[in-house]
Parts: sequence; structure tokens; C-alpha cells
Amino acid sequence: MCFYQKFSPKPQESPGFLESRMYTMGMETPTTPTTLQEAIIHFSDPANCHNFMVRLRWPDGNVMCPQCGSQDIKWLPNANVFKCFEKHPRQKFSLKAGTVVEDSPIGLDKWLPAVWMLANCKNGVSSWEIHRAVGVTQKTAWFMLQRIRLALQDRKIGGKLGGEVEVDETFIGGKARNMHRDRRAEAITGTGPSGKAIVAAVLQRGGKVRARVVKDCRRKSLHSLVRENVEVGSNVYTDALKSYDGLGEFAHQVIDHAECYVRGNVHTNGLENFWSLLKRGIRGTYVSVEPFHLFRYLDEQAFRFNNREEAGDSGRFVAAMGQAIGRRLTYRQLTGKVAEGRAAG
Ligand SMILES: [Zn+2]
Repeated sequence: MCFYQKFSPKPQESPGFLESRMYTMGMETPTTPTTLQEAIIHFSDPANCHNFMVRLRWPDGNVMCPQCGSQDIKWLPNANVFKCFEKHPRQKFSLKAGTVVEDSPIGLDKWLPAVWMLANCKNGVSSWEIHRAVGVTQKTAWFMLQRIRLALQDRKIGGKLGGEVEVDETFIGGKARNMHRDRRAEAITGTGPSGKAIVAAVLQRGGKVRARVVKDCRRKSLHSLVRENVEVGSNVYTDALKSYDGLGEFAHQVIDHAECYVRGNVHTNGLENFWSLLKRGIRGTYVSVEPFHLFRYLDEQAFRFNNREEAGDSGRFVAAMGQAIGRRLTYRQLTGKVAEGRAAG
């Protein structure tokens, strides 16, 4: 009997695996790891990896060929792939096909714990930690982490933010005095003070944060961030930076940090909290982040922040893996040899 035949959908089951945040397979006892240790043990069994990925990709249990959509599929246990019976190229496909881990020689027994760690460690995880914990080279671990960060990137489901929205900007990195002379000269001619990168963000109170690297603190850069992400008419709170002037379509109120930090509802403390998490991760865990890759670390921190209410570590892990589907990142794209298309996928 083929593996997939074991779990034909039952009518009483809730339709969506991601909604239920649980996965149970056929006759097996429901098992959901709740800690990193449990996850490592659980996913060391290839059958558990298989079950998890199948339920993630095909919640109703009907495995479908990614090339032609056929459900006339067979699992080949020795080759560890599915085979489609329709006649077309690439009849065989793995459990990783069509996800950020596609074509990776690293097994799911290593990938899934690595995703667990990055989705849940508040201050992030360095490639050296993954190297030691999972048993891959540091270089491989670095590439794995960058691919996982792509999965964590916000898909902006739910449209614009609204209600009470904080907007703020901050400077990241730029320890110019520790840099090599040539590098320093290059950095200091940049837009930010001492070559720092500038990050701006919008935060809906009680909701999501969206952060991005901006090229400067001028009106155009900050206004486009607000207009792309915030519903017209929302209450917008910023500091007294002149660049925020002119957001007339919003109910815009300003807190002048030279005078005080909070005036009733008017403050940016939610984003101050996000900045401190972000900086703790970048300074403490990653030590130095190339400006070229900074947006990936923003995606990572924003994911953990935005899923802070998620049903524990297990829920965040499942949410992260759910976002891993339909996204890819090759080594060439990652190292900048080919334009990546930030918003793609
Ligand atoms: Zn097919």
C-alpha cells in the first residue's frame, strides 16, 4: 500500500492543517513536538518528517504532482521521492519540492530543527550555533539560515495596517572605527551617520510590524513606507522628525522626544521595544551583518515579533514552515550574483 493511501481525508476533520495547528497521521498517535528537544527527537525519524511535510503541503492528504497536478502518485521509499504516473519531465519530486529547502542535500532531520530554532530563539541563532547543534558546516548553516529567513518574510496577508499605528526609524551598525581604512572611507560617504544603515518601520498597536531598510530619512522614503502600509485615516504617531510632515491623509500626531516620550496615546514605545529586540539580536548573536543582508534579519525579527501571540514554539514553527512553501532562494541569488527580486514569492 502506498503511503499516501493511509490518510484519506475524513469528513469530520477540520479542512486546514495550518488552521488547526495540529497534525495527526492516519493510525498514528497525534504527536506535536512542543520543545526543541522534542522536535530534534521527533524529526530524527524519517517517517515523522515525511508525515509532517505531507500534512503541511497537502492538508487533505491527497499528494499532488507539482508539475501537472495529477494525484496519480506513488511514493518510492528507497529513493525518498514521489513519482507521478503522467508522462512529462521531472516525474519524480521530493517532499522539499516547491519550498525554500528545495534541492538542498541537507536532510529534513536537520532542516526542521534549524527552522524551529530560528522561529523561536528570541535573539536569533548564529550559523555557528546551527553548525554545532545540527551538525553541518558553518558555511552550510549560514546558507540554511538565509533560506529560512526568506520563509519568515512577511507576505503582507491582510493588507494595510490600521487603527493606531506607530512609525519610527533607527540606525543599525556602522562601527566605522573598527573598519578597514578603505571600507571606512566608503562607508562614511554613505547616507547615514558613520555609514550606519537606516531601518524604518510601521507598527499597528496590538498587531503587526513591518520594517524595511531605507536609503535615507528624507520625506520621500518615509512617506512611501507609511502610504504603502497604512490605511488612510488611521491614527499615526511619529517623533518630531521634519520628514514626517505632510502625512495629511492620516490623523498624524507627533511626540517631540526632546520634551517627553509619552503624551497620552502619543508615543512610539511599541517600536522602541521592537528596535531593542532587533539590535540585541544583531549585536549579540550576529555581531556583524552586511548591509546587503540586513533586510533578512529584519524579516526574521519581524516574524518572531508578529507571531508572538502564536500558540507557543510549536505554533511559530508550523507558521514558519507554512510560509516556506512556494519560495526559493538559490546560492547565486543569495550571494548577489543574480538580482533576487525582494518581493518575489
Ligand atoms: Zn505529474
